[in-house]
Amino acid sequence: MKSSQQFPDIEPDGLEWTSASDITIAWNDGSRFTYRRAFLREHCPCATCRGTHGSTATLVKEVAPPPPPPGKKASFAIMSGPKPPSRDVATTLTSADPVGAYAMRLSWGDGHTSGIYSWRYLRFLGEVMEGRATLGELE
Ligand SMILES: [Zn+2]
Repeated sequence: MKSSQQFPDIEPDGLEWTSASDITIAWNDGSRFTYRRAFLREHCPCATCRGTHGSTATLVKEVAPPPPPPGKKASFAIMSGPKPPSRDVATTLTSADPVGAYAMRLSWGDGHTSGIYSWRYLRFLGEVMEGRATLGELE
């Protein structure tokens, strides 16, 4: 059974923005996932979003990503700087800032900034994206 307890020492080896403003994370266990913005917003771990669990998914609708901008990708390791625009503010990431050594805070275009995504939670979401786990298994 998959559980976030499986990833006690998980840390990102590298983080970067994709051309569509999604986030790719390479983990220190050798795995690598690209987290789509809408997926991250849908799984925001803050109390407000968890309290509306079940309806958030319908509020946040995936839209087609904008065409990739010319040039190179921004380095996510800096965790700042310009990012490609998106048409949907609720799933537009405006910034990603480190929280201590264990998490990052994602800020969204609609002003929502209370979601703090721990590395373990994000790593677990990777399993969810791959269909190897469900959120119900997350304690
Ligand atoms: Zn939230």
